[in-house]
Amino acid sequence: MSDRTKSDYEVIVIGAGVAGIYQIKLLADLGVNATVLEAAGDLGGTWYANRYPGARFDSESYTYGFSFSKELLDEWHWSERFSGQPENLRYLNYVADKFDLRKYMQFNCKVEAAHFDEANELWRLKISDGRELTCRFVIMAIGLLSIPTPPQYKGIESFKGRAFHTFNWPHEPVEMAGKKVAVVGTGATGIQVIAEIADKVGELTVFQRRPNWSAPLNNGPISEAEMADLRARYGEIFAKCARTPGGFEHEPDRRGFYEVSREERVALWDRLYDSPGFAIWLRNFREIFTDEKANAEFSEYVADRIRRRVKDPVIAEKLIPRDHGFGVQRVPMETHYFEVYNRDNVRLVDISETPIERLTETGIRTTDRDYDLDIIVFATGFDAITGPFDRIDIEGAAGVKLRDKWFDGPSTFLGMLVEGFPNLLMPSGPQSGSASTNYPRGIETGVNWCTNLLKYIWERGYTRAEATLAAQQRWTEHVTKMYSSMLMRKAKSWFTGYNSNLPGHEHGKIRYFVYNGGAPKYVSNINQVAEKGYEGIVFSGSAMPIRRHGTERFKAR
Ligand code: NAP
Repeated sequence: MSDRTKSDYEVIVIGAGVAGIYQIKLLADLGVNATVLEAAGDLGGTWYANRYPGARFDSESYTYGFSFSKELLDEWHWSERFSGQPENLRYLNYVADKFDLRKYMQFNCKVEAAHFDEANELWRLKISDGRELTCRFVIMAIGLLSIPTPPQYKGIESFKGRAFHTFNWPHEPVEMAGKKVAVVGTGATGIQVIAEIADKVGELTVFQRRPNWSAPLNNGPISEAEMADLRARYGEIFAKCARTPGGFEHEPDRRGFYEVSREERVALWDRLYDSPGFAIWLRNFREIFTDEKANAEFSEYVADRIRRRVKDPVIAEKLIPRDHGFGVQRVPMETHYFEVYNRDNVRLVDISETPIERLTETGIRTTDRDYDLDIIVFATGFDAITGPFDRIDIEGAAGVKLRDKWFDGPSTFLGMLVEGFPNLLMPSGPQSGSASTNYPRGIETGVNWCTNLLKYIWERGYTRAEATLAAQQRWTEHVTKMYSSMLMRKAKSWFTGYNSNLPGHEHGKIRYFVYNGGAPKYVSNINQVAEKGYEGIVFSGSAMPIRRHGTERFKAR
């Protein structure tokens, strides 16, 4: 029989981002002996790290914030429809301070290893500061995009100027006025940073390998009166987010693409192009996600909009993707991005034609020529979804390593548990409902579900919970099957595990990373599992009371 009093904590949450903050709030409310370990110097996760100019939501701010506290909703004023990184980080700090959550958090604590101690039914965590901490349950709140992948060019060390990945943007201001700046990469991050800095630098050179489809964010301020209206409607807004596939207010147009005339389609697209946020993607006809012909027609519409915005027709054509249609990769939202290329101080280098050969002491050398630079910004993406897990030496029962198990791609139960890794929970893990939806909405779903599972365990005095292999296989088959109807299965995108900077992540071999069935279907699935007494999870252990803060005991309710 295992002894609960042996562990330092009942629960250790890894990561103090959006998920970790909400998770510790719920554990604190339950009075559970829990802590959060965060590798960075402070809380905020993605909004702590991504300090590059132009970093902002492309979820409507008021659908991104936490929904759990009416008081919080009533107090916070979002200043913009799509709020910027400094405000987002202030918000997360406000939440942590309001609910007094900092006292549960330990910063600069990188978890290097987590090994399951079978005999004692404990997780043993090795921390970068030399400590070993033990706990009954580990909750991985480590983010989906928290391991940046800079390119592997020759000569990177020789460059005498400054070079950094957008995720590692310095905390002190970066002086860019009059400087020769390069941005490598034109995904959601590159598109934001390029548009923001073009008029603030001396010269900007954009190194583009593949263009991305992108459309206007149509951001704007939120007045006091508008915020008051939003506050009055929060219940309705969150209810709507729960009903839509993406977890946004945006709902697909339910008319059939081919049932309406071309004129009607274009009229809708004209409206959507001028609408805020992901409307252009998520209020569109459903066929653009599944039907090549419908997707091609819409893509050509967006291509025309790009042509109208870029003066030089040669540059315009270079900015139009040829290898994929609109929306099959995650759509970056932009603010005056295409107009940037009308500026005299901005140059587009097509590195699909003249690839980068190496970095030199003074800049970047392509097969065509040398570019002299002061600052190089790598907006080259992330080891997405499983990368953060792979960076921790996670060893489950029977000495199995998670990174070995997931070598060819993840397999999970509901995106929240893994067979062979007892008592390890992932509220927004691979194949969960978070990555493909409005992230915090998915996070709240996952954290609530994991917390209810823990309550179920504690109320019954179990010490061990583990997904069965059969349940995991069923879930993974379900997730895999849903890719088959989606055009995105062919995309060179992090949704399918592509990353040119990571060996083994070349295009062509799909990793089934995200749940494509939409938020309502995901929630219905996980709720059904809970209603059936957590069918698919095996529990064991004897009735031992949980340790709480102080000497109180957890009582079954
Ligand atoms: P990304 O979408 O993976 O884009 C990376 C870009 O870098 C691509 O254009 C890629 O080109 C290029 N690249 C990568 N390695 C390269 C190399 N060695 N040489 C030249 N070019 C290279 O990454 P991201 O832009 O950081 O966005 C990732 C995700 O973060 C987004 O999809 C989104 O979910 C999230 N994000 C969200 C927000 C927001 O909410 N507002 C903002 C930014 C990011 P290839 O395509 O040719 O590989």
